[in-house]
Amino acid sequence: MKTERDWGARAADRLAALAELSAPGPGVTRLPFTPEHRAALDLIGSWMTEAGLDVHIDAAGTLIGRREGPPGAATFLIGSHQDSVREGGAFDGIMGVVLPILVLEKLRADGVDLPFAVEVLAFADEEGVRFPTALIGPRALAGTFDPAVLDMQDAEGKTLRAAMREFGLDPDAITALKRDPARIIGYLEAHIEQGPVLEAEAEALGVVTAICGIERHPVVISGETGHAGTLPMHMRRDALVGAAALVGEVDRMARAEPGLLGTVGTLSVLPGAVNAVPREARLTVELRAPDDAVRERAGQALRAFAESMAAERGLTLSMQRSYHQPAAPCDRGLTDALVQAVRSTGGKGLALPSGATHDASAMADLCPIAMLFLRCAGGVSHRPEEHASAADMGKAVDAMAAFLQGIATQPA
Ligand SMILES: [Zn+2]
Repeated sequence: MKTERDWGARAADRLAALAELSAPGPGVTRLPFTPEHRAALDLIGSWMTEAGLDVHIDAAGTLIGRREGPPGAATFLIGSHQDSVREGGAFDGIMGVVLPILVLEKLRADGVDLPFAVEVLAFADEEGVRFPTALIGPRALAGTFDPAVLDMQDAEGKTLRAAMREFGLDPDAITALKRDPARIIGYLEAHIEQGPVLEAEAEALGVVTAICGIERHPVVISGETGHAGTLPMHMRRDALVGAAALVGEVDRMARAEPGLLGTVGTLSVLPGAVNAVPREARLTVELRAPDDAVRERAGQALRAFAESMAAERGLTLSMQRSYHQPAAPCDRGLTDALVQAVRSTGGKGLALPSGATHDASAMADLCPIAMLFLRCAGGVSHRPEEHASAADMGKAVDAMAAFLQGIATQPA
């Protein structure tokens, strides 16, 4: 029989109810500043009120439920994003909003006082699907919000500013949302792992060490085309053969370096005919690592490899870093407390990096961060099948409640 204190089952019920608040189509499609977003905030807000929280929506569209602390006490933040990708699942993001509300309900039911205030945050947009920007909510709190993004448009040509106004928000007030770092103790985010590691280790919960930094390099390798039947092998300058060497080196290097992830996700070939030697290959190299020095070194080594490979083969090379985002390490103290909390639920407190970006990446500019990963079936995310079990979510509620009690006993 299900009881009020069956936190995992209640989380599953609530996530199923939220999954109904979706644009038509398979899975869940809940984009920011839409009627589905509004309906989700109404429902989540009602649960926040039920849990005894003071509820409001800030100018960036973040739904905030606050449990007051002693007079003058600082605040601990817990949250994630309400939005999904198109035809996504019922857990990515939104689970990290549903769980902390239950955590605060549990602490109230258990009669636990905390020496600080706690706020649960439901950010509007982490996925960046509707507008070519994301993380407005956490950036507003961290003071890193760039008002220029308000002019960006969705596919219908509506600006972000107009969409926010129609949603009842005041975009001009976003910059005033910046929080005083001295008043914020930290930020915790619970999220599905989106990978297969916890499932392979038979662990419900994992503790994130860092959110990986990312760099991207568009590469163009140029040679010379010719007839596949008449151009002798020793006279060829085949751009695709050069690209193949680079793809192999990305994989070799990333396999050899712990923590480094290297991917060539796109490749196109010109002229692209079955009987023509390729004259041009365009590809993208993406590197991720929890350690910025490892990633930077790898990026430079790959460039050096590509240059000497091109010189050897008579090819010309264009390769420059077009994008780079530093890693966001999780706070040591908060992470240690989270490991202890996970162990109190019977888990190992397995440490793992996050290869994906999260709201916590932007929150790291405001305060110390920590992240709790939940095992997801098959490591699947961004698809209708994504799933975390009620039992695992129940353990997450217990671990997060233990975590808040744990940091409450630490000296500030
Ligand atoms: Zn997410």
